[in-house]
Amino acid sequence: MPARQRPDRLGVIARGVVQGFGLRPFVQRTATSLGLSGFVRNVPGGIAIEAEGSPGALEALVRAVSALPAPARVDAIERTALEPIGETSFYIEESLEGATGAFPLLPDLATCDDCMAEVLDPDDRRHRYPFVSCTRCGPRWSVAHELPWDRARTSMAGFALCPDCRAEYEDPQDVRRFHAQTLACPRCGPQLVLLTPDGRAQCSGDAALGRSAEVLKAGGIVAMLGLGGFQLLVDARDANGVRRLRKRKNRPDKPLALVVADVEGAREIVHLTASECAAFLAPAAPVVLARRRGDADVAPSVAPGVSWLGVMRATTPLHRLLLDAVEAPLVATSGNLSGEPLCANDEEALEHLGQVADVFLTHDRPVVRPVDDSVVREIGGRIVSLRCGRGLAPLSLPRRGTGEARVALGGDLKNAVAVAVGGEVVLGPHIGDLASPRANDAAVQTASSLATMMDLPVTDVVSDAHPDSHVRTIARDWAKRHQVRDGVVFHHHAHVLAGWTEHGGSLPVLGVAWDGAGFGPDRGAWGGEILRVDERRVERVAHLRPFRLPGGDAAAREPRRAALGLLFARFGEAAFERDDAALRSFDAAELRVLERLLASGRFAPETSSAGRLFDAIASLLGVRQRCSYEGQAALELESLASEDDGDFAHPLVRGDGVLDWAPLVDAVLSDRDAGTPIRAIAARFHRGLARALVDVVAAAAAENGIGRVVLSGGCFQNALLSSLTEAGLREAGLEPLPHTRIPPNDGGLAVGQLQALACTPGEAGV
Ligand SMILES: [Zn+2]
Ligand SMILES: [Zn+2]
Repeated sequence: MPARQRPDRLGVIARGVVQGFGLRPFVQRTATSLGLSGFVRNVPGGIAIEAEGSPGALEALVRAVSALPAPARVDAIERTALEPIGETSFYIEESLEGATGAFPLLPDLATCDDCMAEVLDPDDRRHRYPFVSCTRCGPRWSVAHELPWDRARTSMAGFALCPDCRAEYEDPQDVRRFHAQTLACPRCGPQLVLLTPDGRAQCSGDAALGRSAEVLKAGGIVAMLGLGGFQLLVDARDANGVRRLRKRKNRPDKPLALVVADVEGAREIVHLTASECAAFLAPAAPVVLARRRGDADVAPSVAPGVSWLGVMRATTPLHRLLLDAVEAPLVATSGNLSGEPLCANDEEALEHLGQVADVFLTHDRPVVRPVDDSVVREIGGRIVSLRCGRGLAPLSLPRRGTGEARVALGGDLKNAVAVAVGGEVVLGPHIGDLASPRANDAAVQTASSLATMMDLPVTDVVSDAHPDSHVRTIARDWAKRHQVRDGVVFHHHAHVLAGWTEHGGSLPVLGVAWDGAGFGPDRGAWGGEILRVDERRVERVAHLRPFRLPGGDAAAREPRRAALGLLFARFGEAAFERDDAALRSFDAAELRVLERLLASGRFAPETSSAGRLFDAIASLLGVRQRCSYEGQAALELESLASEDDGDFAHPLVRGDGVLDWAPLVDAVLSDRDAGTPIRAIAARFHRGLARALVDVVAAAAAENGIGRVVLSGGCFQNALLSSLTEAGLREAGLEPLPHTRIPPNDGGLAVGQLQALACTPGEAGV
């Protein structure tokens, strides 16, 4: 065979999440070191490389690109043989305008170890500079105005590089700083400033940091502009400070997240399992729910009634420098008022948090897109996202089929929107409850910006089917304004398809959709559903026995109303002669009204909700009569149950597609009246529910010839219920399909809505 005279030339397209992490510089360095010529550039959905040289060197380049380390993710490599053209160097070609497609931008990443080492090194020119980043870390989503990922299109565009930074930016040998788009130093980058609540600048730079630390040490509240928006900080050991923050923010009980300097700081307050530790250290740096240490020096009011604390690491040098100065774990909660979206600029913060924070530690690098902290929890050995925010969203997943570009707006609670383009579904970051006009605007803006970044004309908007919801209103407006189709998907259908998305594979599946409540096809409040979902339709194969909720929606915040409804369903009017904690919490006049509602059925709609069953049991056990946040009673019940290590389970009965809680309620009441410890009763309730669920699912599986079972809905944030159910299903020879990356709660609804629309194009789901 004659020796090859000419070099080979190869075209390579790498698809996946590849922009915003210094991939092009990486390719250039690698190619140059291999003696290859050619170029690399951003293209829709990834990067394109053309390289020329020896076949061995070309192969080595392809291997290097395929094996990129996290946070990059290469899904597919396409190669094409080309005619050699005799180039002499390898260069980065300017980005093509509009070079988007599949979602190509990374979420914001916590400061890497190398950057943090520079910040802490007295001899480094970036010593104590709070805005250090590199190709491997720092803001992405929150600072990008548009794609492709280039400094000129970010909120760093206004900061001209100083000669030292420019030299790093242009040096191909500088692995971390070559083409690092958010590169900055104390001479040329953003600067800190400390504002008083009336907006006056008090001091700047290191002095602003020092003064903030003093405020925190004195028990004060600091509003700090972090990566994706403002956080409210207070010394977590200081019970008075925490109380003041709760009062001012109007957040009486909901657990508050903590930020600590590093993993040692975390281990002082929580027990971390290996996977919790890995999640804590990951580039996403989410809030990790972990078991609280008995000797943790943290005010009990940080997370009252539960045995976990939510802990995250310092996500930026700013957090780290502040934590080192204060030498205490800090509460770090979203900079918003209850029910409002995150504040992300000084004007918003001063307007909405002026009465909350004592000082405002802010800076001049604008947040383009606000993004809240993420929350994860270990469930059944997996790390499960409970909230996809900073670091985890936008989240790309494979779509069912392909097709037109669509927007899904989710539901009213824990809102997050999603878009589908080509073969991909992209879930946007957590927005929150659509309880205010600003929150509604945030949902619309996020959906618009995702659609714009994908750069495709949207043909459909889809939302939860509840006719009176805020999300229906904004969906109708969107459809009208953009002249697109307006579809709805029923709540629990979307839940099951959201869970299924993580696993893919064929339909039909069985789906357990257990949550607080969602609008069902019979206009009822569903929430204890077992569904069969196939290509074209959804069938309700079983559900929890319904009971009435006196006062309807009011029951969501008052477990005692659910308890009353449950007792009424069990004992009829005799329920009102009982001596129960739930009844005692009402006065005589209230009880007369509630009895009338239950007897007549007026303003006392039936629900099959598992979440309300948890509420009712919590009330009957005297654990909680009123909630100040969604799911509080169930969380406290789980926390109690997880302290019990028995194996006794309360019974339920299965009959004709209905899971009847009557024997379970009887057992709970007799245990309680016999003086059994509450934590044991709570655990028996969990075990009984899981066993009965497995039993009813196994029957449906046998009848339908289906072995795969999605577990979705807010109830599967409950680690105890989830792990018991998963284990039971496996024992029964079935395959559980639980959530991992998409939240099991309503934060994942939008993904399921898009998948449902793919099942039945252009029409309402179910
Ligand atoms: Zn870095
Ligand atoms: Zn500089």
